[in-house]
Amino acid sequence: MKTLKIASIPGDGIGKEVVPASIDVLKTIADVHGGLKFEFVDFPWSCEYYLEHGTMIPEDGLKRLTDFDGIFLGAVGNPKLVADHISLWGLLIKIRREFEQTINLRPAKGMRGIQSPLLNPKDFDIMVVRENSEGEYSSVGGTIYQGEDEIAIQNAVFSRKATERAMRFAFDLSTKRKKHVTSATKSNGIVYSMPFWDKVFKDVSKEYPEIKTESQHIDALAAFFVTKPHRFDVIVASNLFGDILTDIGAAIMGSIGIAPAANINVNGKYPSMFEPVHGSAPDIEGKGIANPIGQIWTAKMMLDHFGEEELGAKLLDCIENVTGAGYLTPDLGGNSTTSDVTIAIINQLKTI
Ligand code: ATP
Ligand code: MG
Repeated sequence: MKTLKIASIPGDGIGKEVVPASIDVLKTIADVHGGLKFEFVDFPWSCEYYLEHGTMIPEDGLKRLTDFDGIFLGAVGNPKLVADHISLWGLLIKIRREFEQTINLRPAKGMRGIQSPLLNPKDFDIMVVRENSEGEYSSVGGTIYQGEDEIAIQNAVFSRKATERAMRFAFDLSTKRKKHVTSATKSNGIVYSMPFWDKVFKDVSKEYPEIKTESQHIDALAAFFVTKPHRFDVIVASNLFGDILTDIGAAIMGSIGIAPAANINVNGKYPSMFEPVHGSAPDIEGKGIANPIGQIWTAKMMLDHFGEEELGAKLLDCIENVTGAGYLTPDLGGNSTTSDVTIAIINQLKTI
């Protein structure tokens, strides 16, 4: 019996609704399919916790998390209670940084029964690997002069280590998929970092002769993401380019409420963190209508991460059976509730 110890942090807003729903789904998978057991420990770290304790997580919080195989997070932030820079930096970004979660992984996939804003979407199934520790989002730079001469300088940092790490991750992932990796570049306009990026991509690709590769400039790539998403399998991108592409990805899927994500610690030294793309959505909190699919699909990514890809594929299939059958929350134009969708997915899991 394989046991996975998971730290569950529902966080704020609808996180407190969709995380318990997803844990019910994961427990069902363990019950139905055997061989796998989850041990969940709940942590109440959130904006409410901050108001009570003056800190988003206790002093030994990170240390307590290191004992777990994975972290399953809902959403953090409620600007009405706590300023975003305090809540995000005090919990989310702290975990991502301290636990060296250097890869952000996000799928974009057309789903049965869900209307994509694309006009004629063919089946698309993309995985974007975003380098998540450096690149354009560095803190290197500054401003000089004042008034009309004022200048801001922002440096991008690309290390061979982090670039190779992201690319190897993309190639490894692609071996389990359609064996095609696209690199997002812009070496015709950014003349130091992007030619370096291209060079590392070429170097790493030599280790994977069975995988087809292509490089595309980010502007063209962003356009193709909308017009021809079925052309892509795995895309590897820098921090900024990956940020933009993954948001387009969530948009073409049909709702931010279904988009999953994972923050991966590649060397396994610390736990990885699984959290959907959406935020705490305070506008719909407590109404029972939050779409649980983003969080449940995030649970599928957690299964994949722990080598349970077969169960992960089954779970995604169940999700699509449910959306295909018309169980849609209001963000997808339906009138199902969080619990309608969750129960339908659990019932599906029991039948396959
Ligand atoms: P953050 O700043 O935390 O990233 P945000 O406030 O910018 O978050 P969200 O909290 O994701 O964004 O909400 C954006 C919009 O999408 C809101 O109108 C919200 O109701 C809707 N939304 C987000 N997640 C879901 C969901 N799971 N189900 C239904 N609607 C959702
Ligand atoms: Mg917000």
